Amino acid sequence: MQMNDVRCRSSAGERKAKVEVALARLKSLKCQVSELRAQCEALKTLQSEKQEALACNECGKLISQGQEVTLKDSFGKVKSHYHKDCFKAIWLSQNWRFDYSSPGFLRMSGKDE
Ligand SMILES: [Zn+2]
Repeated sequence: MQMNDVRCRSSAGERKAKVEVALARLKSLKCQVSELRAQCEALKTLQSEKQEALACNECGKLISQGQEVTLKDSFGKVKSHYHKDCFKAIWLSQNWRFDYSSPGFLRMSGKDE
């Protein structure tokens, strides 16, 4: 019985302490969130400034300006970007054909039919 009493008291105290810790944590998390938001905004600005640095869909490396090949789907939405050389390799390994009815002009043959 005595053991139970001690546990009860301490758990009430613990609960209070836990709530306080949780509140403090919440406060610091809120701080972190606003910090992260600020970082996100900065990143967005950076990305919009550096829009030319696209990642290649094939090798995952960044594509320098003027070296990119952009693929679009039939709605004109950008699907993916490739290095010219990477795209050439894909071109050679797959069966593409020009399709002037689609805004991207390219379709993998047999896929959209
Ligand atoms: Zn590449």
